[in-house]
Amino acid sequence: MKVVENLKEIQLKIKEACEKSERNIEDIKIIAVTKYVSTSRALEALNAGVVHLGENRDDGLLEKWEELKDKPVWHYIGSLQTRKVKNIIDKVEYIHSLDRISLANEINKRTEKQIKCLVQVNVSGEESKHGLQPHEVNEFISKLIEYPNIHVCGLMTMAPLTSDEKVIRSCFRKLKELQIEIQNLKLDYAPCNELSMGMSNDYSIAIEEGATMVRIGTALVGEEI
Ligand SMILES: *Cc1c(COP(=O)(O)O)cnc(C)c1O
Repeated sequence: MKVVENLKEIQLKIKEACEKSERNIEDIKIIAVTKYVSTSRALEALNAGVVHLGENRDDGLLEKWEELKDKPVWHYIGSLQTRKVKNIIDKVEYIHSLDRISLANEINKRTEKQIKCLVQVNVSGEESKHGLQPHEVNEFISKLIEYPNIHVCGLMTMAPLTSDEKVIRSCFRKLKELQIEIQNLKLDYAPCNELSMGMSNDYSIAIEEGATMVRIGTALVGEEI
């Protein structure tokens, strides 16, 4: 399938989810996750009208960045090793996987401008998943005031691997509740306006529950190299 056709279908579903939940379609950013595909496929996505690209490995991001430079807005969405921060920091606008102070410290040290970070939360509690436990988020964010280059623009989570819609929905709903808790603190460095949740199989549910960023790979650009 051409990316432009996939994109049309996704946009239609997003519109439906927005209507169902009385949200504005302008409030949703589609992040094309290009980790499985070539640079030319990523370029096809950009030509179809995609603005945001997401990669989950530093080498994948660097390879595509060499060709695409600052044509897209780059999102780093994968777990990030501290020693790899320096490789990507001047190329990305958003990091979706802030989950520990040592990483905040390294990001803060390696950049001169503010980086928009999303705190990754392991809402589902699955051991295989990265991220903070929900009860740790408040205290973690309060510590981030020490790092002036970190701007906490939101929260990110991944739903559990299940086809049970109720379980997925409750995971997204919990992240939304956490967001409201943080927003009520009215921290200048942590406005927390973004909710990064929803992938190919569950982005409609995520939008109904308040997602502002959906990270879509397979359904948008496919998996072929
Ligand atoms: C791969 C990946 C996605 C996209 O997954 P699809 O199911 O292909 O849409 C989204 N978020 C993260 C963190 C990923 O690693």
